[in-house]
Amino acid sequence: MLDAVKLTDNQSYVLKSLSEAGRALSAYEILDQVRECGLRAPAQVYRALEKLIEVGLVHRLESLNAFVACGHKHDHAQAPAPAHAAAFAICETCGTVFEYDMPTEADALRASLAKDGFVANSMTVEVRGCCADCSR
Ligand SMILES: [Zn+2]
Ligand SMILES: [Zn+2]
Repeated sequence: MLDAVKLTDNQSYVLKSLSEAGRALSAYEILDQVRECGLRAPAQVYRALEKLIEVGLVHRLESLNAFVACGHKHDHAQAPAPAHAAAFAICETCGTVFEYDMPTEADALRASLAKDGFVANSMTVEVRGCCADCSR
């Protein structure tokens, strides 16, 4: 899946740290993980994240001010979707982030917006709660 997009070393390190974490990480948490790979400055992490978000491999969670590796095989091979819609369920207990596609909901919303002439660039839904493991 990664073959489709050409990543720099820094981008690969950042993506790897997010994939291995399995939960959302702040930029500084990412920096801690990739320090041993030679990344020292937050700006390097932010630059890598910017690109990864652009190509759809990483999502930004506004409510947590954190980043998460894309958990779905969207068509990442293509150019970034104009409105890469994703929904995230965030467990408030363990911090695990689950990603869901919402094709129908997103299309319906996009259609309503389009009626008003509004062009959606991105759509992210963040749902907070408790995951199955934690509610046991
Ligand atoms: Zn995604
Ligand atoms: Zn949990």
